[in-house]
Amino acid sequence: ETHKEKLGFQAEVKQLLDIMIHSLYSNKEIFLRELISNASDAIDRLRFDALSNPDLYERDADFKIRVSYDRDARTITVSDNGIGMSREEVIQNIGTIAKSGTREFFQSLTGDQRKDAMLIGQFGVGFYSSFVVADRVTLLTRRAGLPADQGVRWESDGQGEYTIETIEKPTRGTDVILHLREGEDELLNGYRLRSIIRKYSDHIQLPIVMKVEGKDEEEVVNKASALWARPKSEISEQEYKDFYKYISHDFADPLAWVHSHMEGTHEYTLLLFIPSQAPFDLWLRERHHGVKLYVRRVYIMDDIENKLLPRYLRFVRGVIDSDDLPLNVSREMLQQNRLIDTMRATATKKILGLLSDMAEKEPGKYAIFWREFGRVLKEGLVEDKANRDLIARLLRFASTLSGPEQNVSLETYVSRKKEGQDKIYYLLAESYEAAKDSPLLEIFKQKGIEVLIWTDPIDHFVQHELQEYGGLAFQSIARGEVDLSKLEDKQEQEERQKSADEVRDLLERFKKVLSEKVKDVRTTSRLTTSPACLVVDEGGIDPNLKRLLQAAGQ
Ligand code: ADP
Ligand code: MG
Repeated sequence: ETHKEKLGFQAEVKQLLDIMIHSLYSNKEIFLRELISNASDAIDRLRFDALSNPDLYERDADFKIRVSYDRDARTITVSDNGIGMSREEVIQNIGTIAKSGTREFFQSLTGDQRKDAMLIGQFGVGFYSSFVVADRVTLLTRRAGLPADQGVRWESDGQGEYTIETIEKPTRGTDVILHLREGEDELLNGYRLRSIIRKYSDHIQLPIVMKVEGKDEEEVVNKASALWARPKSEISEQEYKDFYKYISHDFADPLAWVHSHMEGTHEYTLLLFIPSQAPFDLWLRERHHGVKLYVRRVYIMDDIENKLLPRYLRFVRGVIDSDDLPLNVSREMLQQNRLIDTMRATATKKILGLLSDMAEKEPGKYAIFWREFGRVLKEGLVEDKANRDLIARLLRFASTLSGPEQNVSLETYVSRKKEGQDKIYYLLAESYEAAKDSPLLEIFKQKGIEVLIWTDPIDHFVQHELQEYGGLAFQSIARGEVDLSKLEDKQEQEERQKSADEVRDLLERFKKVLSEKVKDVRTTSRLTTSPACLVVDEGGIDPNLKRLLQAAGQ
């Protein structure tokens, strides 16, 4: 009983396939990277599950990924002896997209092929990239532990439907057979396939084998060693970049990376990358996390709950490999583990150190970082109090002196303070444009005092968390009484006193008329050309903050 049925892809799969086949053509080689990556994941999962259930090995622990091609049949096959899939798993994993952020992904597509290719890469093209080069794909699989007659044959031409039937499959694991499209015969070449494997999958820690042409033997094509476990001096820039692209699915080079081997009480290695652009799902709550945990080169799990790096560093991609954790470490164990805590603290320091260095030595690069991830980093002020000072030094703001680009550090601001100035002045606004002509700024402009323009809702926390920087307290210029009297000379002080006396009666009348609408009416030194402005009571909530928070849906 083969129980053959014809089923339809989920609507999103069909949509993804359509876009992908067109936008990815110039990167078509990545199908092999994706299939090898799936094979490697499948073997990792088998190895992990077999720790608690050794029967899954089925007396075959010689893990490998095999790539082969058949010129006559015009096929390329990628095989693994990993975990395999049951019939239900094939339907679930291959016919649907279960990833979080799917809706946001489709919404962010632009129709521009180059941009979309980038987004598709970030989303994870995965198995479906097979259809870029193949017009028919056959998948044969059997789940480890299931009997040989519970194999599955899946086949599709990528047009919206697939067939699935039960077959006999003696060996566990998965074979993916690509029936190449017309015109793709150049891929049916051992030299070409080997070079694609070395380019994208060299560091995969499992042997990727191919049959030696004209002989009856197999050879290992890749280096099969974990990149991060090799000495730094032996790794080229290009290898780091390729590895980054492999683990991040990014098409662009990383902005920077840090690679360290820690010895001492605990031994572990970290290789962490900062991307050069924010992924589309940076702001989604549920999302893929960037750092993977390994134990002695064996993949354990992704950082699901920010155990390996704090949330505000969620843009970081990479690997942390511990020599001391047990291989069968469980998720629960990670909750309360001193080793994990130490590695997390070190990884955090390394990233902040990398950013500090970049800010100091490569300001152009740092500007790119700040544009892409500055808003996320600011969350660290609230989340990571232990590193607050380090983070404070990394902040950049727009200001009345520097313009709309966020490039003024607090250090720079303080170094430019005027004599007698004892505050860091800021104005919360919806945008730099909206802020720059505010009457609240008049007196500051006149006196040449710099005012930071804060346009992110989270900027409010800068003031709240830091309170002061370099001995200067933060002061919103839209709040309470801004006292600039220390910056006035004697004559200015006398004039202010005089004019205050003159308008006392006028103020009383204003107060009466406006008593329902305002709490107080005062004279001020903050305006130079506008006749009046509204401010908030010292304890009140800043109206601009209120607006920003509302805009952010809070
Ligand atoms: P991703 O690898 O990002 O999950 P893919 O599209 O590459 O996305 O694969 C989808 C799913 O199909 C995988 O998560 C896995 O469950 C399953 N799968 C794909 N290839 C294999 C394989 N060789 N062995 C076992 N499962 C596989
Ligand atoms: Mg995959």
